Amino acid sequence: MIMRTYIVLLGPPGAGKGTQAEVIAEKMALQHISSGAIFREHLHDQTELGKLAAQYMDRGELVPDDVTIAMIRDRLERPDCALGALLDGFPRTRSQAEALDGMLVELHGAVKAVPYIYVPEEILVERLAGRWTCRSQGHVFHDKYHPPKQPGICDEDGSELYQRDDDKAETVMRRIRVYLVQTKPLIAYYQEQGLLFQVDGTLSIDQVSASLLSYLGALEDHS
Ligand code: AMP
Repeated sequence: MIMRTYIVLLGPPGAGKGTQAEVIAEKMALQHISSGAIFREHLHDQTELGKLAAQYMDRGELVPDDVTIAMIRDRLERPDCALGALLDGFPRTRSQAEALDGMLVELHGAVKAVPYIYVPEEILVERLAGRWTCRSQGHVFHDKYHPPKQPGICDEDGSELYQRDDDKAETVMRRIRVYLVQTKPLIAYYQEQGLLFQVDGTLSIDQVSASLLSYLGALEDHS
């Protein structure tokens, strides 16, 4: 049996996880699973889960663990994740990380690497406030760091770009605080398991991708 490969992308909101996840998932032929994007899809479709999640997302808080874990479990069990997945935005708490470890035993897989995209807190606000997201598939742009060729239009699929409600200034501050308290401790959790690989997220998008891909490529060669 082939062991499934899971990669967990860690980093604060605004570090570039979504942008890098698109590049890595394509190169490594892994499914890109973004917990935030799944919640936003549910919200768009006005499902019960979407309405519940929105109460937390709007405040910049985390959706409760039990709901989030059940949603991810359901997603990882689907056939398009048969080779594994690249996780972006999950886990975000210690109990989510432990639940993931348990789930992956059942799915005959394991977390193989945890790239941590490090960006100092003081520049995250600027990054999030200038961010634009594509309506149809969630491609991410930035006024200054990654401007679209035509303002307001996604380079990839031509759909409209919008500013996420939770990218507005007050909510951004809350999300960063929530990250520091609840998610940052996961760095130590994965470091202790020898899985953490830190990348300087202030470098250009291409430099960060190159560094991530060379690290992950080297791991594949040795597996
Ligand atoms: P993101 O797109 O990753 O920035 O996530 C947007 C929002 O979705 C977060 O601020 C949370 O409210 C919610 N969310 C996403 N992933 C998780 C998670 N793993 N646990 C709890 N809430 C989450």
